[in-house]
Amino acid sequence: MAEPTLFEKILAGEIPGEMVYEDAHCAAFRDINPAAPLHVLLVPRKVIPTLADAGEQDAELLGHLMQVAPRIAAAEGYGDAFRLVVNNGADAGQSVFHLHLHIIAGRPLKWPPG
Ligand code: AMP
Repeated sequence: MAEPTLFEKILAGEIPGEMVYEDAHCAAFRDINPAAPLHVLLVPRKVIPTLADAGEQDAELLGHLMQVAPRIAAAEGYGDAFRLVVNNGADAGQSVFHLHLHIIAGRPLKWPPG
């Protein structure tokens, strides 16, 4: 058995996390180091290390995450303007190798991102 990821431990309640959403397939909690007034991490319960590791069998789960994310943004009061980010790989800024969507909102978001 692989060592549980940090996010598995948060989803299991073994490490504290401020949960904002939970269903059978995924859960969301506030980022410990927020980059904006709203910064939530949406994490599938299934451990997929990176987006590039997702397979055909994960298509429904990925679609579910994309549908849940706007609902979380709206529930937090930012339904009109938010950004979703997936860092894929260490060189892209990924530090936790358990797929997650960053949901970021509440300040002007520049484009292109850094
Ligand atoms: P990434 O760098 O894309 O893998 O994103 C990982 C995110 O997890 C970062 O934004 C961290 O601030 C966040 N993070 C790390 N540890 C915790 C924690 N214990 N609770 C909540 N968020 C965390």
